[in-house]
Amino acid sequence: MTTQDASPQLTWTEEGEPRSGRFGDVYFSRDDGLAETRAVFLNGCGLPDAWAGRRRFTVAELGFGTGLNIAALLTLWQAHRPEGGRLHIFSIEGFPLTADEARRALSNWPELAEAAQALTNAWPSGTPGFHRLDLPGFNAVLDLAVGDAEWALREWSGQADAWFLDGFSPALNPGMWSPEVMDQIPARSAPGARVATFTVAGAVRRGLAERGFTVEKMPGHGRKRERLEARLPTHPAPEAGPRVAVIGAGIAGASVVRALTAAGVTPLVFEADKPGAGGSGFPSGLVTPRLDAGDAGIAALYAQALERARDLYRATPGAIVAEGVLQLPQAERDAARYAKIAAQPIWPSGAMTMVSPDKAAARIGEPASTGGLLMGGACAVNPAAILSDWLSGAEIIKAVVTRIEPSDAGWRLFNGDALLAQVDAVVLTAGWGSASLLEDMDAAPHLSPVRGQANWISGPAPAPVAWGGYAAPTDDGLLFGATHDRGDTSTDIRDDDTTRNLTTLEQRLPRLAASTATKTIQGRAAIRATTADRLPVAGCVAPGLFILGGLGSRGLSAAPLLGEHIAALITGAPTPLPQSAAARVGPLRPAVARN
Ligand code: SAM
Repeated sequence: MTTQDASPQLTWTEEGEPRSGRFGDVYFSRDDGLAETRAVFLNGCGLPDAWAGRRRFTVAELGFGTGLNIAALLTLWQAHRPEGGRLHIFSIEGFPLTADEARRALSNWPELAEAAQALTNAWPSGTPGFHRLDLPGFNAVLDLAVGDAEWALREWSGQADAWFLDGFSPALNPGMWSPEVMDQIPARSAPGARVATFTVAGAVRRGLAERGFTVEKMPGHGRKRERLEARLPTHPAPEAGPRVAVIGAGIAGASVVRALTAAGVTPLVFEADKPGAGGSGFPSGLVTPRLDAGDAGIAALYAQALERARDLYRATPGAIVAEGVLQLPQAERDAARYAKIAAQPIWPSGAMTMVSPDKAAARIGEPASTGGLLMGGACAVNPAAILSDWLSGAEIIKAVVTRIEPSDAGWRLFNGDALLAQVDAVVLTAGWGSASLLEDMDAAPHLSPVRGQANWISGPAPAPVAWGGYAAPTDDGLLFGATHDRGDTSTDIRDDDTTRNLTTLEQRLPRLAASTATKTIQGRAAIRATTADRLPVAGCVAPGLFILGGLGSRGLSAAPLLGEHIAALITGAPTPLPQSAAARVGPLRPAVARN
């Protein structure tokens, strides 16, 4: 995805302007970078007029650099945004600056202060891959792809209304203007898309014209004589918000609802019992990635999902109970496996650290025979706080959906013979409960049930630890578990399972286990839905029918990002997932498809 050394090799001029040592060029014009940004890119794409009356507008940029263009775009959006409009930004950077470097560069322009602050506060870790950042206060979202431009454009599946082509000059940086990159621009454009760039190089003009754009040289800004504007012929189609039903109000449903609501769509939520009645109903949950030392695609998917989940939970009141989860080895070979995982380039610094037995012991508060993997980016959360916040924008209807049927104009939801709703799109987020609704489909993912019981006591809250079993802090005590019984679909609370959970705890954390002796132990069981390859299913099953499921025990980690993927598929907005990741979780992939 990126070269080994992704440093921009930054230096600063006496005037406080950043310069790329790697490319031997400045990030913005020496005279007045902001005025040039406005003239070349904002004006060049016809902004703000081009977004008038739009519910959603998508801007793509090649060359994120200091974020100057995007800060100027956000400032203009803030002042002239269409009512209820949401701005999607996709930008690509192969050699990211740090947040502090960007702060320093952007401090040249006090008039951009608010946007610059929002941007630099949300600044991503700079690890390779896609990163989704919310820009609260702007009704805007930024997907930053860290990696080479050609790779990022192939992985992006959005459709841009406006393009800022801002790689360094074609003479200094031909890779940013290659035919392969140029090919992707019309392929990732909405009808009527506009392109703006500072260069009038013949190859760029011809490249755009050959790909269907009408290209015009315009008077340039400052010392540059000319700049370029280009346009695709047709005009954007009118947009209408879809009616969406979400079936199931656990973490999967809440994640879809949160993302739809952020996109301006208010779904109907059907819930048989109450929010968190299934796997999301425990008093605490660990948000940990699936660790994979061998499959880079799986590792990258979970790294992205974990980063997004943690950011969203940090922004949700009462969600995070503790940050950092210690993973202890189950088998001897795990130490080497953990070391390999910690060395993967996808983790931000501090996200995966090998710790000694002493450090592990200090963290868990009792002797440790081994060290472990400290997952700094993982956390323990209170699922109830997340569900109540994320579902607050939706109408929740208490009803059992027993059947869904396609109709001329979307889908009908029934309870027995009673029609519950007629909608444009349905999302199945009912965990194991989704399986029966898929039974009559021609092609659908196959889900399997796994019963899990966990137990808890009140008292001091421990640091989060996982080893096969787990110990998690609740708001007022300890949650420990969990059992794992394939094919079992009953949710009774069993003394035998409590004993099994206690034994698992005793084997690894005997002091913590002893603290349960005088306490009333409570318990709860739920059914997880899993898939044959143990990856979630997230995507389209049939026209207008979507699923987010098969989350196993990782719903709290994977659902927030995958919920945004589903919302994007429904609304047509850009998804935060690279196309290769979307394919891995596709609900009709051969490994999980039933027919
Ligand atoms: N738009 C930026 C701003 O507002 O500060 C300035 C962009 S600067 C002129 C060009 C950027 O493109 C640099 O940050 C550089 O690292 C990046 N870049 C150059 N070649 C690239 C490539 N092949 N893939 C991804 N990024 C690249």
